[in-house]
Amino acid sequence: MLSGRERGFLPRNAGAANQDMHELSIAEHLVREVLAALHAHDVRQVDAVELEIGALELIDTEALCLAWEVAAEGTPAAGAAVRVTETEARAVCRNCGAEFVPEVGCYVCPKCGAANAEIVAGRGVVLQTLECS
Ligand SMILES: [Zn+2]
Repeated sequence: MLSGRERGFLPRNAGAANQDMHELSIAEHLVREVLAALHAHDVRQVDAVELEIGALELIDTEALCLAWEVAAEGTPAAGAAVRVTETEARAVCRNCGAEFVPEVGCYVCPKCGAANAEIVAGRGVVLQTLECS
């Protein structure tokens, strides 16, 4: 789903408008996914959603919750509590095999100095659970 490949290199304060757009597009994507999951079920209201978000996605949880309300307006997903668990970023150096926690935009291996790391965790937005009534 969301790869975050390009967005991951944006500085965190790359402009409030951009940041809002970022959360809104993710919220819209997630709401679509939730509504698709509800299809064929007799659900009137989504009470809560649990999301797992990679640290490299740079998502502002508060902004995402606000964006959720915008994206979910008029659907059963409106009013759902949005709970976010952030997953730590992990990278593995392709040069020496060291595993480390990468900084956003800087994947230089702390052991050998090679800029040749594979990101193994910390990307993506995953819908974990849905609570409905
Ligand atoms: Zn290395």
